[in-house]
Amino acid sequence: MRWEHRRITAAIEQWFTLHARSLPWRGHRTPWRALVSEFMLQQTQVSRVLERYEPFLERFPTPASLAAATEQELLSMWQGLGYYRRARSLHKASMQIVEQFGGDVPLDAASLRKLAGVGRYTAGSMASIVGGHREPIVDGNVNRLLARLACDDGPQDASMARRMWERAAALVEASGDPGMLNEGMMELGATVCGPASPSCDACPLRDGCEAFAAGRVGEVPQPKTSGRRTVMHQHAIVVRQGSQVLLEQRPSSGLWASMWQAPTIESDRELDVDELLRRLPAGFEDLTRVESLTRTLTHRTVHIHVHTAATCVGGQAEGWVWVSDRDGPGHPLSSAARAALQAGGS
Ligand code: SF4
Repeated sequence: MRWEHRRITAAIEQWFTLHARSLPWRGHRTPWRALVSEFMLQQTQVSRVLERYEPFLERFPTPASLAAATEQELLSMWQGLGYYRRARSLHKASMQIVEQFGGDVPLDAASLRKLAGVGRYTAGSMASIVGGHREPIVDGNVNRLLARLACDDGPQDASMARRMWERAAALVEASGDPGMLNEGMMELGATVCGPASPSCDACPLRDGCEAFAAGRVGEVPQPKTSGRRTVMHQHAIVVRQGSQVLLEQRPSSGLWASMWQAPTIESDRELDVDELLRRLPAGFEDLTRVESLTRTLTHRTVHIHVHTAATCVGGQAEGWVWVSDRDGPGHPLSSAARAALQAGGS
């Protein structure tokens, strides 16, 4: 890096003091509010978290209140945020906080790492930003910022990750305020040093940035090589009976575990109506294909083929329920299931 560590950290901290976005978990910061925001923000856009954050905390204001909740209550408050495994991890972590830490979120990195769903990044973030400890953090935004500062064009592999954590640790050692430095690096990466077209002219580190000096900002860091996604076909059958719609619950593990949806047949290829009728329990009448939706997830692409049926007489399977208020707390829906129901006219 072209500048000494102390000069970099001072520039980031000063910039953050002036440019930090006003976000609810920054204004009123408690360890529990911070931990909830960390879980919600993983792989989810800030705008989506903003809609869900305060209602979730109103319902679960403490670790103990979440620990005492049922999984269905939790999932109903998590609807729309996706990645439901995080919600279950937060649930488990809340129980650990109650059982092992007397109901108070620990703020040292070693204790935080014992909580379900808390890895090195989340532990470092909580310990530094809330606890004030000298712990480094590297997320996608920090990784990009540090790679460009050093013009590190290596492949995005374990060796690169190790270098980034070492650089983050060196910076946090030189910092005047570890929490402000870490939050500032994430904010700078998110709002100025973005993946495409970074705003170098507005960057407080421009004169210390190796990639900028070399004219290689667009080439660094190297793009990640992504693994191939598996493809799944879901055939959702939306059927109404007066003001009610038929729902089934997904299995308790795997994709969208324990969430609710219109009765669905899954396969590795698209099925026509005749094949669907053979696989469905008897009783569906006038099955009509309406629309296909696609959801791209981290490891798979899901094509959802939405069908409607005029009725489902007599033959519904065990566990299916007629629900009049599909947003009711007892039947949380993934955003994909909600979209399928809407496409089917519910
Ligand atoms: S000068 Fe540009 S590339 Fe370098 S850190 Fe700043 S925004 Fe990123």
